[in-house]
Amino acid sequence: MSNTTIKSIDNIDGSNNDSSNNLVSIETNNTNNNDDGTTTTTTTRKFNTAVLVGADGGNSFIRKSSGISQIGPGSYNQNALTFTVELENNNSSNNNNNGRRAYQRYLSDGGPIALLPTYSSNHAVIVWSTTPEVISKWKKSNKNNDVPSEDDDDLLLVQHLNDCLREGPQRIPPLMEEIISIASQKFTFPLSCYQASTYVKNRVVLVGDAAHTVHPMAGQGLNLGLADVDTLVTKLKKAHDAGMDLSSFLEEYNTDRHKNVSISLTGIHALQKIFVNTKDIPIQHVKTFGMNMIQNIGPLRRQLAIAAAHGVGV
Ligand SMILES: Cc1cc2nc3c(=O)[nH]c(=O)nc-3n(C[C@H](O)[C@H](O)[C@H](O)COP(=O)(O)OP(=O)(O)OC[C@H]3O[C@@H](n4cnc5c(N)ncnc54)[C@H](O)[C@@H]3O)c2cc1C
Repeated sequence: MSNTTIKSIDNIDGSNNDSSNNLVSIETNNTNNNDDGTTTTTTTRKFNTAVLVGADGGNSFIRKSSGISQIGPGSYNQNALTFTVELENNNSSNNNNNGRRAYQRYLSDGGPIALLPTYSSNHAVIVWSTTPEVISKWKKSNKNNDVPSEDDDDLLLVQHLNDCLREGPQRIPPLMEEIISIASQKFTFPLSCYQASTYVKNRVVLVGDAAHTVHPMAGQGLNLGLADVDTLVTKLKKAHDAGMDLSSFLEEYNTDRHKNVSISLTGIHALQKIFVNTKDIPIQHVKTFGMNMIQNIGPLRRQLAIAAAHGVGV
């Protein structure tokens, strides 16, 4: 398998006379992962491009190389611990929804925790947003990077998760399935609320997490990125159809998306403040009840998703 990574970017400000038509120049490396576990960097290629789209995630090399700063509330001092679990095969609630239902609960020792549908109705992906202390307590059972662990720590984690999830308001649907084992290695991701100070600098344009990162509790990170791409394609097509330089309408993209994402970020950050980090169990139940009400009212849920992605009022 090989990976192509951007090694360097040149002429972002369009002032380099060596670059034809003042285009952005990029240099890439191609790294091969060999069968014996070693890697070899094989090729370096150079390109000139009218528009460089930075879609390289929250730690964006393209954003940093372009000198674009980040603004916003910043780090939540929380991480997301994520892994796959095997669920009890009782079929009752799973099959009613073809295993496609997502759950979220607020835990007394640092939540929220979400169970998201995955490739099989007997499995779910856990996304647990919590403190570094809670994560280091439970991640230590990750002894082997390739093979899911079956040691005592994982058994304790399964028991802990089931105990916590039973804290929830049992009479309020959806009822949670029992977790029976940890089925993958565990990964952690730092959680933050940032956006780039601008999404466009000359011919460089940022989309997705390169432009903005949000707390996963609202499940809106991907939606925001898809809305960026939708808007960007419209602006590129407008320039192409008019026979103009492809970068002609990037500022329109910046104005549109920066304004709308700012509204969404403010809303998601406010939700994070309201919903996260209380040890008061009755309040957790009210939060879970409130989120379940939103989830169960389909049109309201859809409006909230659209509002979060496009930054419009509900
Ligand atoms: C734990 C967790 C749970 C989440 N849950 C949800 C959810 O339920 N719903 C939702 O909508 N969103 C969710 N999100 C957010 C969502 O995952 C992100 O918003 C989305 O993946 C961002 O997509 P992206 O393509 O912008 O960035 P990424 O998914 O980070 O992709 C960036 C890509 O760029 C590549 N790359 C990086 N640097 C270079 C380089 N120099 N050269 C070449 N390639 C490079 C990376 O390898 C990667 O493939 C969650 C996030 C986390 C951390």
